[in-house]
Amino acid sequence: MKFGFDIDDTLINLREHAFHLYNQKMNKHIDLKAFRELQRVEIHEPFGLTDEEGKRMWDSSLEEIYYTSCPAFPGAAELLNDLVDKGHEVYYITSRPKEHGERTMKWMVENGFPVQSDRFFYGMKDSEKVDIIRNLQLDYYFDDKPEVLETLHGESLRVYVKDQSYNQHVAIPRVKNWIDFTFED
Ligand SMILES: [Mg+2]
Repeated sequence: MKFGFDIDDTLINLREHAFHLYNQKMNKHIDLKAFRELQRVEIHEPFGLTDEEGKRMWDSSLEEIYYTSCPAFPGAAELLNDLVDKGHEVYYITSRPKEHGERTMKWMVENGFPVQSDRFFYGMKDSEKVDIIRNLQLDYYFDDKPEVLETLHGESLRVYVKDQSYNQHVAIPRVKNWIDFTFED
């Protein structure tokens, strides 16, 4: 079977990692409670930033956000390695910008994820993921973003949402955490 995964906030805890970095960089102590209550993917609001300032903060912090010690969600790398061991194909589909593709692939390998370079896709828009997913004829796909998941309605694959505060309204099978996760037949 072919399994496709988004990376950020599906397999690794990127936004929370960035939230800690923002606290450090801005010398603030905003509680994680504010993070857990966010109703959108963007994390800048609790720091009092406008959308424009937040975008600038995110873009200028990207190097640190992507390549420092962002933790994977517990059990994620183990599950993907297990799939590969059982003979399944694991694909990554991340909308990280093109210039970060190769380094992100390397980072994933260093952090214990099973990566094959011809099964690693990056640099597309969220709205373009569906085309890659369709072309690859994936059997399963996992993502956190409502905007991406909405494009997959009616596709003949099993789609799961990785549980996050901003996707509670998405009514499809949900991965609460990777450790307890089992596939539906
Ligand atoms: Mg994501």
